[in-house]
Amino acid sequence: MYLKLIDTKSDSVGFSNRHGHITEQKYECPCGKGVVAYEIDDITGFKNWDIYCDCKNCSDKYHFKRGGIAEEK
Ligand SMILES: [Zn+2]
Repeated sequence: MYLKLIDTKSDSVGFSNRHGHITEQKYECPCGKGVVAYEIDDITGFKNWDIYCDCKNCSDKYHFKRGGIAEEK
C-alpha cells in the first residue's frame, strides 16, 4: 500500500569535500495514528537512508520500503 505523504523537506549540506542533500519525508502510518519518517542522505561518497515508524502497532505489522510503501509482514 502507498502511504499518504504529510510533509517533506530537503536540506543542502556540505562539509569539506562532501556535498549533497538530506531529504526528510513524513508519511501517515497505515492505521493513521502515527507517523513514518524517512531520512534520505544523498551526499557524495555517502548514501544512506533510514526509516522510522513511531507507531508500535504498524511497525510490528508492516515493512516500510523506499518511496512510502508499506508491505504486510
Ligand atoms: Zn499505525
